[in-house]
Amino acid sequence: MLKALTTKEEPVMIRNEKKFFKNKLVKIVFLLALVYAGFGNYNQFYLHYGYGNDTFGGEVFKFFFSRYAEYIAVILFGVVVVYFERNQYTRRRILTLMLFMAFLHVGAPFFLSITEPSYGQNLPFEATLPSPHAPGTMLFVVFAVGAFLLGRRFDCGWNCQCVGFRETVGRPWRQTTIKTGTAWKLRHIKWFFLSAMLIYLVLIFTPPSDFSARYFETFWKTVVAVYFLSALFIPLTGNRAVCRFICPFGALYGWMQKISPFVRIKADKEKCVDCMKCDKECDMGIPVNALVHKVGEIKTAECMGCARCIEGCEKGVLRYVDFRDYLWALVRYVKGIFISGTKTEPKEVVIGHKPESKDVTKHKKVKHDKLELSDIIFALTLSGTVTLLMIGLAMLFQ
Ligand code: SF4
Ligand code: SF4
Ligand code: SF4
Repeated sequence: MLKALTTKEEPVMIRNEKKFFKNKLVKIVFLLALVYAGFGNYNQFYLHYGYGNDTFGGEVFKFFFSRYAEYIAVILFGVVVVYFERNQYTRRRILTLMLFMAFLHVGAPFFLSITEPSYGQNLPFEATLPSPHAPGTMLFVVFAVGAFLLGRRFDCGWNCQCVGFRETVGRPWRQTTIKTGTAWKLRHIKWFFLSAMLIYLVLIFTPPSDFSARYFETFWKTVVAVYFLSALFIPLTGNRAVCRFICPFGALYGWMQKISPFVRIKADKEKCVDCMKCDKECDMGIPVNALVHKVGEIKTAECMGCARCIEGCEKGVLRYVDFRDYLWALVRYVKGIFISGTKTEPKEVVIGHKPESKDVTKHKKVKHDKLELSDIIFALTLSGTVTLLMIGLAMLFQ
C-alpha cells in the first residue's frame, strides 16, 4: 500500500510490432520502397535515366535515383523499424546500421572522394571509400580479419547495406523465412559463390588479360543481378535469403568465423526447456535448439551474430563469445600477476568465456518501447568512430 502511494509507475505503452508489420497497407508501402531502392541501383548501373542533365535539379534527381536510393530507404524505413523493435540489441544494431549508412556509405563518398588502397594490379574499377565488398581493397581485408576476431557481425547486420536494406525495407516479411530441413541443406550453395570470389582474388594478382577482364565483368554482373533479383523474392523467402544462400562476402566471413578459435555462441544445455523460441527468432534458419543439444554451442558459418536467439531465450541458455572475452581474460590474468599478486592459472585465460566474463549481448530486457538515450549514444559513437578511423586509414595509405 505504502509502495503504491510513494512510487510512480512508468506508463507502459506497447506498440504492436506484429500487427503493424502484418498490415496490408504497411506491406504495400514497404514493397514500394523495395522497388524504389532496386530501381535506383538499376538506373545507375544500366538505364542511366535522367543522367544527361547537369543542372542542379538533374544532380538532385541523379542522387535520389542512383545506388543512394538503397541507403535513403534504409535510413527512412529504419526509423519505423527502430520505433517498433522491442529487442534492445536489434534496436541498437539497426540504429547503428542506419548511422553507418549515413556517415560511411553516403557521407564519406559524397563529401570526400578518397580512393581505397588495394592490392593486386588488376582491380577493374576505382574503389572509392567505402568498398568493403570489392575484393582486394583495404576494407575487404579489414572486414575479413574482423570476422575472424569478432565474428560475421563485424560487417553483417551492423554495416552491410545489403542486409540493412533487407532488415528495414524487408522487415514485414521476416516471418516468411523458410526453415525446412531442405532449406538448411541448401545453405551450401554459397560455397559456389565463394569459390568464384576466391578465383577473383587470385586473378587480381595476374597480369591484365582478356580472360581476367571477362571474369571480373561476369562476376560483378552475376553478383549484382542475383542480389537484386533476390530482393524481389523477399516476400516469399524472408529477408535474409541472400545472406543464407548466395552472398560470397558473407560466406567468406562465415568461413573466417568458423575457423576462428574465438567466435561462437556458447550454450548451457542443462538450462534449456525446449521452448523453441531460438529457432523461431533465427532469420538465418539455423536449427539453434538442435545444435544446443547436439554440440552444446552454435559455431556455424551461417550465424550472423544478430543475437536474436540470445535475446529471445528467456532461460539465459545462450551467450556470445568472441575475441574480446579472451582479451579481457588475458588482461585479468596479467592484472592478477602484477597488481593483486594473485596469479590466475593460465587455463582460465584459455577459457576466457567462463560465466563471470562480460556478456556483450546481455542488455536488459526491454519492457517498453521507449527509445533510450544510451541506444542513440552507442550507435552514434560506434558508427562515427569507425567511419573516422576508416577515412583516416584510407588517407594514410593513399
Ligand atoms: S551475408 Fe552478405 S549481404 Fe548478408 S549481411 Fe553479410 S555481407 Fe551483407
Ligand atoms: S530459447 Fe532457450 S530455452 Fe528455448 S529452446 Fe532455445 S535455448 Fe532452449
Ligand atoms: S543463431 Fe542466433 S545469432 Fe546466429 S543468426 Fe541465428 S538468431 Fe542470429
